Amino acid sequence: MVSESKSNRPQLRRGLCYSNEGRGQATRSPSVIVIGGGIAGVAAARALHDASIQVVLLESRDRLGGRVHTDFSFGFPVDLGASWLHGVCKENPLAPLIGRLGLPLYRTSGDNSVLYDHDLESYALYDMDGNQVPQELVTKVGEAFENILKETDKVRLENNEDMSILRAFSIVFERRPDLRLEGLAHKVLQWYLCRMEGWFAADSETISLKGWDQEELLPGGHGLMVRGYLPVINTLAKGLDIRLGHRVTKIVRHYNGVKVTVEDGRTFMADAAVVAIPLGVLKSKTIMFEPKLPDWKEEAIKDLGVGIENKIVLNFEQVFWPKVEFLGVVAETSYGCSYFLNLHKATGHPVLVYMPAGKLARDIEKMSDEAAANFAFMQLKKILPDASAPIQYLVSRWGSDINSLGSYSYDTVGKPHELYERLRIPVDNLFFAGEATSVSYPGSVHGAFSTGLMAAEDCRMRVLERYGELDLFQPVMGTEEAPVSVPLLISRI
Ligand SMILES: Cc1cc2nc3c(=O)[nH]c(=O)nc-3n(C[C@H](O)[C@H](O)[C@H](O)COP(=O)(O)OP(=O)(O)OC[C@H]3O[C@@H](n4cnc5c(N)ncnc54)[C@H](O)[C@@H]3O)c2cc1C
Repeated sequence: MVSESKSNRPQLRRGLCYSNEGRGQATRSPSVIVIGGGIAGVAAARALHDASIQVVLLESRDRLGGRVHTDFSFGFPVDLGASWLHGVCKENPLAPLIGRLGLPLYRTSGDNSVLYDHDLESYALYDMDGNQVPQELVTKVGEAFENILKETDKVRLENNEDMSILRAFSIVFERRPDLRLEGLAHKVLQWYLCRMEGWFAADSETISLKGWDQEELLPGGHGLMVRGYLPVINTLAKGLDIRLGHRVTKIVRHYNGVKVTVEDGRTFMADAAVVAIPLGVLKSKTIMFEPKLPDWKEEAIKDLGVGIENKIVLNFEQVFWPKVEFLGVVAETSYGCSYFLNLHKATGHPVLVYMPAGKLARDIEKMSDEAAANFAFMQLKKILPDASAPIQYLVSRWGSDINSLGSYSYDTVGKPHELYERLRIPVDNLFFAGEATSVSYPGSVHGAFSTGLMAAEDCRMRVLERYGELDLFQPVMGTEEAPVSVPLLISRI
């Protein structure tokens, strides 16, 4: 079992989880500590628990879910972190669970949308003077943007050296002046670029052209979790030994076990640990590893990018905006552009979600909540001058929150995509999980979920090998072996 001690002195009592003594006796009990209670950590803990391994999950916050954070303070669920299921299809590892829970999804796009999660016809864009951009222009520029992206593909194939998305765009414009746009069309193009930056949570001058091509996208389009993502976390967490408010500060690994120390000095010991904390937290070095992590792992932590995307949620008395899924403000630069997700279409509540990313998100995090909400409202006033003030607001701060220190990972210029795999590879009896360890689906809930299952399986094998009991236990749940397949409930108005 996982043993807990109030002091830093090592425990030496019988049946200690990392003891190899007593092989074949009843006191043996394989044990694992899972660090981090986001979707990856909770999935890992669930799988290990279900495979009859003693698990304790240590979570620094006073809630589970991490970057899945459904807030109920408006009297209905609103996601401040993840809200879309990217890939509404049976291949999505989360589909069986979401289907079984009967959680409804609202479709925001089909398969062929520009920039993944929204169809062109679902936007209403405005200039800074509140004039709506004609829909034909939105569509035309959307198509031009797709052509530019195709041209950047060619640039990528021709060049061995990596470059930023921004640099690739300028090469495309040099070669194909016909793709250059002027006036309002240029501003609309900047808006598409702004959406792209939102997808990566980073500015185009830092996003890798080569890395961009590596990301996989599941089929089936994109569905918003109408009742929020939290039920998924709660279902996975049922019956687990979870310790909230346990901020891990030190992880010591021995040849036969791990010792994990939390902020107040208490220690936990087990055969192995699953480290499922965000890349931003690993980068901050607020957790001491002893012995230190190998250089290749430390370099991967340093070189992989972590971006910022935030949500400023405005709750209004009533709806006064058009019936589209996205409202946008176009501007001369992508920094000046902005957009609002209209939650009313999906949930029936009069809520708009302002979503800044990259440098803009970082700048807004320097403001107070009130100033941030006001900033978002002022953007809205530009396009809808008669907008009434919100009655409530919520502001996320994923970049400065010490439990996340970023929103999600992305490939930076000149760094290989295999960094995700290096982040995942175990070090002795430490197993790593989380969105930044997902080679195929980084930055997503389903990607993080899969890495939790993968780490659990690797960890289970390792622990049971030590106990010589590999054949006694059932495999942990696999991503592809869904016992029952329930169709997902997705709709669109
Ligand atoms: C604004 C935003 C929008 C997003 N939108 C989507 C979306 O629509 N669809 C999608 O698929 N993905 C989306 N994502 C990404 C998705 O939320 C993440 O990829 C995923 O939730 C990450 O899960 P995780 O388990 O890897 O990390 P986390 O959820 O961050 O979990 C890590 C946990 O570790 C804890 N922790 C940190 N430090 C310590 C410590 N020292 N000791 C103990 N515990 C610690 C944290 O509190 C946290 O609970 C979005 C993210 C953000 C921020």
